Amino acid sequence: MRLADEHEAFRTTVRSLVDKEINPHIDQWEREGGFPAHELFPRLAQFGLLGLEYDPAYGGEGADHLFTFVACEEYGRIAAAGVAMAIGVQTNMATPSLHKFGSEELKRRFLAPAIAGTAVAAIAVTEPDAGSDVAALRTRAVRDGDEWVVNGRKLYITNGTQADWVCLLARTSDEGGYRGMSQIIVPIPTAGFSVSRKLDKLGNRSSDTAELVFDDVRVPVENTIGTPGRGFEQQMSQFVIERMSAAYTIAGQCRHALERTREYLQQRQAFGEPLAAKQYVAFRMAELSAQLDLLHSHNLQSAQALMAGEDITRMATVAKLTAGRLAREVADLCLQFHGGIGYMEETWTARFYRDMRLSSIGGGADEVMLMVLARLDGFPV
Ligand SMILES: Cc1cc2nc3c(=O)[nH]c(=O)nc-3n(C[C@H](O)[C@H](O)[C@H](O)COP(=O)(O)OP(=O)(O)OC[C@H]3O[C@@H](n4cnc5c(N)ncnc54)[C@H](O)[C@@H]3O)c2cc1C
Repeated sequence: MRLADEHEAFRTTVRSLVDKEINPHIDQWEREGGFPAHELFPRLAQFGLLGLEYDPAYGGEGADHLFTFVACEEYGRIAAAGVAMAIGVQTNMATPSLHKFGSEELKRRFLAPAIAGTAVAAIAVTEPDAGSDVAALRTRAVRDGDEWVVNGRKLYITNGTQADWVCLLARTSDEGGYRGMSQIIVPIPTAGFSVSRKLDKLGNRSSDTAELVFDDVRVPVENTIGTPGRGFEQQMSQFVIERMSAAYTIAGQCRHALERTREYLQQRQAFGEPLAAKQYVAFRMAELSAQLDLLHSHNLQSAQALMAGEDITRMATVAKLTAGRLAREVADLCLQFHGGIGYMEETWTARFYRDMRLSSIGGGADEVMLMVLARLDGFPV
């Protein structure tokens, strides 16, 4: 399947935006350990990028999923993965449940500003004692009249220091396990809410990552997304979009990295010829390029299946696992083939190597993807 002309024209628009309005600032944002989401997001919104598939009634574009596919691939050309991740949180991780299950009033109050870029969103699932095992989470929302009273901690929350609201997954009954959870929108600032730590990271440094504390935070019950008690299922459905969009972005990041490395290998001389002329070097590059072609095809097929309304849980899991592993291999090989200069911070490979390490952990570790696949295949793990 080929993308339509309108998708390719859109690709050109996103690429130019990335080159002109994001990449010139990346080094500064990496040094500062964060980027100004409240400045960048309204600019992205002017191009419809924060609500591509969302209902025009809330400011969205009502476009098909292939526009998301293209946008994510182009975010792969952002010179730091942290900014791509932060945009992804806003569009494909913190807002899909709200769009799909939220009440009209909630969408008007929280989705519309997120699409306009005037509100920054975060997704708060992970906790100090519950990451891979989402069903073990302890943050609790107890009903008191028309309000939830929320207590707990959320860890590693992207956009956490600058969010205007978080999509919180909390326990709202005593059923235990994956039952009795709800997705609740918590506006920020709110009494009892605080950012206890901004975390220092190996990579993705231009994206802020925080620990959030909820200490008797009161939120109206009407801020519940969808059906109370169905939060786990709704979050699993949100994870499918998150994992697919991560795989699209990683494919874009790998493509760009292989292109840049090929250019370097063509001009770098060793033993009287360009490194690109070494059969081992060329074969390894070709091998990764072939793997990337397979990921790209799988991503495109998954995107089409999603548009056709199919359950793509398995496809999204395969995509996330494959992309995570490929990203690490590509980052390692690109650095290796650059030699000493590849290890220097002045070369893009150093940051890329650090950034790509997250791809096998964030949004569900490789081993969790394997667990999901093994279970789908009938293994009792
Ligand atoms: C930079 C960054 C940004 C993030 N952003 C967000 C965010 O915005 N919102 C949010 O909610 N979370 C976020 N996360 C959290 C992320 O999703 C979790 O870190 C991830 O799901 C793993 O959970 P954990 O860190 O608790 O690891 P653990 O659950 O403690 O697992 C540790 C390791 O154990 C192995 N493992 C786990 N389960 C199994 C198993 N069943 N079988 C075999 N091995 C297993 C894996 O190798 C795994 O990496 C972010 C994390 C990072 C690092």
